Amino acid sequence: MQTTRRQFLTGVTSLAVSHALLRNSAFAQQAKPTRILLLGTKGGPRVGEAGRSNPATLLMINDVPYVIDCGYGVSKQLISAGVALNRVRYIFITHHHSDHNLELGPLFYNAWITGLPVRVNAYGPTGLAQMMRDFFNYLKFDIDTRIDDEGRADPRTLFTAHEFDKPGLVLKNDDVKVTSCLVRHPPIKQSYAYRFDAKDRSVVISGDTAYAPELAEFAKGADVLVHEVMYLPGVEALVQRLPNAKRLREHLMAAHTLPEDVGKIAAQAGVKTLVLSHFVPGDDASITDEQWADGARKYFKGKVIVGKDLMEIP
Ligand SMILES: [Zn+2]
Ligand SMILES: [Zn+2]
Repeated sequence: MQTTRRQFLTGVTSLAVSHALLRNSAFAQQAKPTRILLLGTKGGPRVGEAGRSNPATLLMINDVPYVIDCGYGVSKQLISAGVALNRVRYIFITHHHSDHNLELGPLFYNAWITGLPVRVNAYGPTGLAQMMRDFFNYLKFDIDTRIDDEGRADPRTLFTAHEFDKPGLVLKNDDVKVTSCLVRHPPIKQSYAYRFDAKDRSVVISGDTAYAPELAEFAKGADVLVHEVMYLPGVEALVQRLPNAKRLREHLMAAHTLPEDVGKIAAQAGVKTLVLSHFVPGDDASITDEQWADGARKYFKGKVIVGKDLMEIP
């Protein structure tokens, strides 16, 4: 009797286990793994001769593209990453510096002209909707001409701006929950980090920020933190060449994060992988990967990746 009962219980347990396995493997077949691709890794609006493109990051969540920031070149970089522009559904803007929003309108336009099957939803701080209205006015002649002449759908009806002026829940669908955190980027008050909690992976994108301990709290337990970074000796060399050196140096010091402090944030957050991106300065080839990473490694013992354009984060 005893043995029979134990055998019965064992049978029940293994049945439960095999059901769980079945469920998991069924899920694994349905949902594609979340991918992280860096599209542009250079901080700042200057368009360089070579090397890094302006800021943009791509998440592929269950094979749907989520674009975070639209620095100049984002359309080209998406194509280089193998993403047809008319597949873009979700765009997130961290703040309204032009290295993050200059190509928002053009990216949407390029998607529309590719043949946009459904609408694009864009999320970001206050100002997003007006910026797109202004963009549509800027291209009014072309858009109206193509609607009349080529029979295209009116792009103004296909784009929805979702503005917010405080942190919190940004988007939730079957695949992902997106939340935002206010970060420190003076003089801009509305500068946000985004956190993407997908079923298989959590990813935090810092946006532009000075050292912000609240970002570490926000990124707690995430798998990957993509954080901006500024290298001081590189900044000193950069500003020396410019007439507005003093003001620019003051802005950079108040608004961005040194490698050591990036390491502290990653360590406090307890993330598995830290990815450095939005490099300031982003076009000084004399700064080595080790120089970018060394400061962060002083404080963070997890994996540190020095981001490159079109790099996929494993
Ligand atoms: Zn920036
Ligand atoms: Zn900025």
